Amino acid sequence: MRRISLIIAAVSALVFGSCNNGKQVKLPVTRTFECDVLVVGGGPAGIGAAVCAARHGANTILAERGGCLGGMATAGLVAPFMSSTTPDGQTMLIRGFYEELVNRMEAQGGAIHPLKAQIGSFSAYRDKGHHGLTTFDYECLKRTTEEMCKEAGVELLYNALFVRCDKHRGRITAAYFATKAGIWKIVANTYIDCTGDGDVAYSAGAPYVYGDGEGDIQASSLFFVVRGVDWKAMDAHDAACRKAGDFEGQFYMREILAAREAGEFPMWRQKIALFQNLDGTATVNMAQSDGVDGLDPKQVSDALTEGREQAAIVVKFLRKYVKGCENCELASTAEQLGVRETRRIVGEYTVTTEDAKNSVRYPDPVFCCANHMDIHRKGYVEYVARNTNDPYWFPYRALLPKKVDNLLCAGRCAAAERPVMAAIRVIPPCFAMGQAAGTAAALALKAGVRPKDLNPTALVTTLREDGVYLPE
Ligand SMILES: Cc1cc2nc3c(=O)[nH]c(=O)nc-3n(C[C@H](O)[C@H](O)[C@H](O)COP(=O)(O)OP(=O)(O)OC[C@H]3O[C@@H](n4cnc5c(N)ncnc54)[C@H](O)[C@@H]3O)c2cc1C
Repeated sequence: MRRISLIIAAVSALVFGSCNNGKQVKLPVTRTFECDVLVVGGGPAGIGAAVCAARHGANTILAERGGCLGGMATAGLVAPFMSSTTPDGQTMLIRGFYEELVNRMEAQGGAIHPLKAQIGSFSAYRDKGHHGLTTFDYECLKRTTEEMCKEAGVELLYNALFVRCDKHRGRITAAYFATKAGIWKIVANTYIDCTGDGDVAYSAGAPYVYGDGEGDIQASSLFFVVRGVDWKAMDAHDAACRKAGDFEGQFYMREILAAREAGEFPMWRQKIALFQNLDGTATVNMAQSDGVDGLDPKQVSDALTEGREQAAIVVKFLRKYVKGCENCELASTAEQLGVRETRRIVGEYTVTTEDAKNSVRYPDPVFCCANHMDIHRKGYVEYVARNTNDPYWFPYRALLPKKVDNLLCAGRCAAAERPVMAAIRVIPPCFAMGQAAGTAAALALKAGVRPKDLNPTALVTTLREDGVYLPE
């Protein structure tokens, strides 16, 4: 067995070589592409980055390992889009590309605009003060984002897993993808890492932090969808509990305790977490696995299997204990595990928790938001309090990794301390990071400068012109 592993390792080394230490090894490349901007990863950040880079004139390829756009929001069945407004739900903070997408989906009946969402009407999340959520339809998101890519001229490449890159004198010179048709090579001027895990940055040798920096990592969850929920009964139960001020009743906490005592609820979740979708199904966020390394396919495989076992248990629990769910059935489980945390780059600037707590301003803001800082620990969620209700800011420099000149990183792998990333990793800010990274990449190319030498005023002006909310 050990011998086979050594042989596999030796063959892999020959085929892929190593680019982390600057060594360049010839690959059996079966096809080569060239472009101005290569975006790796087609989740919220990657979609925003690719469309905005292309709209600003860059010849752009978006490479994704799966077969659809949306990342966790489609393949991960994560819903709804978390808050994009001020804490009172009155002002939309994440606008620009995100607002355009929501408007387009709303026009097709595939989303509810966050300013029109009725607090307390759709989901348990509401009652925790999450104003400004966006309920959306998974299929509408897939289709609309593909349309937007097509209109902007983005070349989409699905089923392409980024594996390694070449780097020379601080610049990435090529990216390699494992495909069914062999190794494909993409040569770009600028690269944008939107893999969530910082795969490109890691391969290029950019410094990063994993989890808390000392080995601890947030819990992962497998989302699933159930059909056959009687929402009238659920709403009636919800209304009665609110009237009586019965928080535990509202979230079926006593039922969970009873089921746990009966050996029918072996997970540590204390509350039910169902979110009503537009088609009457419910997205469920109740399966959870602790300590999973999202970068280790074996651990991810085990967590996916465990998540599906838990989904079956949760459905049994819902049918037996939860009024309104007596006839519910499992409709689908996510294809991708919900990994909350892996690598975050060390940026030219890394947003600190104190910055977010105190709404510190920067000379190069690219968006602002007001999302909660909540860290999912084993058995509980830790909330980090802020000192103000004002929005907090995110600077352009936090998209720029150290040590690699022609790379930007947007989405879950951008540069922010752990509690801040725990907040801005939700979907609307990820779209905003993508928009900023794509726009900056295109502007830097036009100006003939490295992304880190781009004039921040030019970027901020362009983002404002493109609808991003950046008040003085
Ligand atoms: C359990 C859980 C619950 C959540 N709940 C909510 C919620 O209710 N509301 C909300 O707004 N947000 C929620 N989030 C957060 C949100 O879903 C993600 O943080 C967000 O989608 C991150 O966006 P992203 O574009 O950075 O990464 P992702 O959405 O993860 O997209 C990354 C994309 O890159 C692709 N990719 C990865 N590696 C490679 C590679 N090597 N080569 C090619 N492609 C690659 C992936 O297939 C994927 O499509 C939740 C997240 C989790 C895990």
